[in-house]
Amino acid sequence: METNVIEQVFGKDVFNDEVMQAKLPKDVYKSWKKTLENGDDLDSDIANVVAHAMKEWALDHGATHYTHWFQPMTGVTAEKHDSFLSPATKSKPVLEFSGKELIKGEPDASSFPSGGLRATFEARGYTAWDCTSPAFLQEDAAGVTLCIPTAFCSYTGEALDKKTPLLRSMEAISKQAVRIMKLFGYDDVKKISCSVGPEQEYFLVDRDKYLQRRDLIFSGRTLFGAPAPKGQELDDHYFGAIKERVAAFMKNLNEELWKLGILSKTQHNEVAPAQHEMAPIFSTANIATDHNQLVMEVMKKVAKRHNLECLLHEKPFAGVNGSGKHNNWSIVTDTGINLLDPGKKPHENTKFLLFLSAVIKAVDEHAEVLRLSASNPGNDHRLGANEAPPAIISIFLGEQLEDIIEQIVKGDVSSSIQGSKLDTGVHVLPVLKKDATDRNRTSPFAFTGNKFEFRMLGSSMSISGVNFTLNTMVADVLQDFADELEKASDFDSAVNDLIKRTVTEHQRVIFNGDGYSDDWVAEAKRRGLPNVKSFVEAIPYLVSDKTISMFERQSVLTKVELESRAEINFEIYSKTINIEAKTMIDMAGKQYIPSIIRYVTSLADSINSIAAACPSADVSVQTELLTKCSSLLAQAQKALTDLEAITAKAADVPEGQERALFFRNSVFTAMNELREPIDELEMLVDQKFWPVPTYADLLFEV
Ligand code: ADP
Ligand code: MG
Repeated sequence: METNVIEQVFGKDVFNDEVMQAKLPKDVYKSWKKTLENGDDLDSDIANVVAHAMKEWALDHGATHYTHWFQPMTGVTAEKHDSFLSPATKSKPVLEFSGKELIKGEPDASSFPSGGLRATFEARGYTAWDCTSPAFLQEDAAGVTLCIPTAFCSYTGEALDKKTPLLRSMEAISKQAVRIMKLFGYDDVKKISCSVGPEQEYFLVDRDKYLQRRDLIFSGRTLFGAPAPKGQELDDHYFGAIKERVAAFMKNLNEELWKLGILSKTQHNEVAPAQHEMAPIFSTANIATDHNQLVMEVMKKVAKRHNLECLLHEKPFAGVNGSGKHNNWSIVTDTGINLLDPGKKPHENTKFLLFLSAVIKAVDEHAEVLRLSASNPGNDHRLGANEAPPAIISIFLGEQLEDIIEQIVKGDVSSSIQGSKLDTGVHVLPVLKKDATDRNRTSPFAFTGNKFEFRMLGSSMSISGVNFTLNTMVADVLQDFADELEKASDFDSAVNDLIKRTVTEHQRVIFNGDGYSDDWVAEAKRRGLPNVKSFVEAIPYLVSDKTISMFERQSVLTKVELESRAEINFEIYSKTINIEAKTMIDMAGKQYIPSIIRYVTSLADSINSIAAACPSADVSVQTELLTKCSSLLAQAQKALTDLEAITAKAADVPEGQERALFFRNSVFTAMNELREPIDELEMLVDQKFWPVPTYADLLFEV
């Protein structure tokens, strides 16, 4: 029998546990495992042996280079390749890789965003091996490269990347949750980790057409474009049959991901035309984060092989759904208990209710910074724009848990609503057991069985931010809980009191209704829940006293590090909008306006030649079109001139928050003014004259 392709390729390019067990001497493997389990410092002798085994394995697989693979604040990964060639002066090349090279790297850090943490002359930055995330091989035109996942810090130890705070937050939540577990008598629990399963949405468009759209090339989204005659109104794309070309892409994508040990599991068409989703099986937060970065990179790479382009932007097309990333998150002990598993009778499951109330409190208290963690310039087009989740953070618990919370608040918990049987009314169909709770697609933070699903995150973003924020928030609440409960003389009554007090105080954040409705906006306001409208408005919450004290208390980020991240966020916003504005200026000035001029000229020519040939002929159609198009053309030209002026002015606005606000309030508005007449013209102008592929071409012709 042929072996299945998954079995053949899975983990082939990963220096995983199995390989290590085979390649390392027994005692080294054992102490290596112990180091990992206990989170101890790595012994340099062990590092040397591991490095040697890693090198041998990589060379066997054709690697010529290695790289410290890291995730600077750009949001994409970075790598600097070194060959294994050693400087030894021998006639034959010597291939070497020491423990030191494995553990530490030193890329010039001066060109990565640091938000003022380092002046450019203080260029030193270090990459440090994250031995909890396995090394892997990447193959491209440059050959095979051994990639070593690393954290990236400045000379003075400040985090310059997305991984460092995530690792710190995992330690923080573990420490506090272990304390709680001890109180419940689980002395065997030594470590707690966060499990994360990110669902990734994306669009696929034909690459030849993509290459004709400068907006897609430079900004990742269409900055112009009239709606196609058909959008997503028939709901015929969602879960629809997958087209051949897309299916071929997905097959190829899966194989590449499996090779990297990524548990690619689910694939389907999404709501918008040309939109799709991939979901892996969940793994530990930092591995899930590394893997999601790889997923995005591999998607882009594999798409090109099929002459497709993969768009990861949050809103590539106006008028149809954008893309997000659902971050499924839970907390699990090293003994295998999922702390967010309610069990059959959640009302009796005090441990679960305590962790649940910690999450409820954390989300209510730190809603603003949680919202920020899921925000970027692209996501401004989604959050609160009647698709995907609203910008208001609320928690959906479902009927069963909401009922329990209400019982707790009232003071007497005695029952859990149970799932019933599903009656389809057809006898040949099997009788299905229903979940105790239906889903709610409009909630940003939904309890889904044994985990929370945070649905705000933008599709192009690293999942690190939402996870380290969540971990830290929950760790901070658990610390207070543990402090209080450790002092209690009667644990049982203290814990029940604490749960009751917590859910009563934070019940306002629970909402099971329609998150897209206007009623909810008003209701949320009455409840005093924050409604932070945009990314730029959310950034200051990163440096509020409340946020700083939480991150500092949990040793995840210092005030200085948070300030630098706020700076970087403002900068990212300004730069993104600046690129978009400049792209619009370029396209309008060099493509749209000249094409429209050609078209109106052709109308004028037509009127003249018809009038010459037959003075009595009716040219009212041409005349009407000519008048209308010329007037819109003039409107477009004026909007273009305005946009140019306002974009130029932005450079004089002081950097940081002020400039970002200027881009949001002035430049962004001017961009919309330019888009409007051009999109209207697109509906009028002869298709032959239109300089770029349309929404219909891009969305329906893969
Ligand atoms: P849906 O689209 O219905 O929400 P999917 O199957 O597409 O569901 O995605 C669910 C995601 O949640 C998967 O990545 C899955 O591995 C992940 N998941 C399941 N259980 C857990 C858990 N305990 N912790 C974290 N993630 C989980
Ligand atoms: Mg989902």
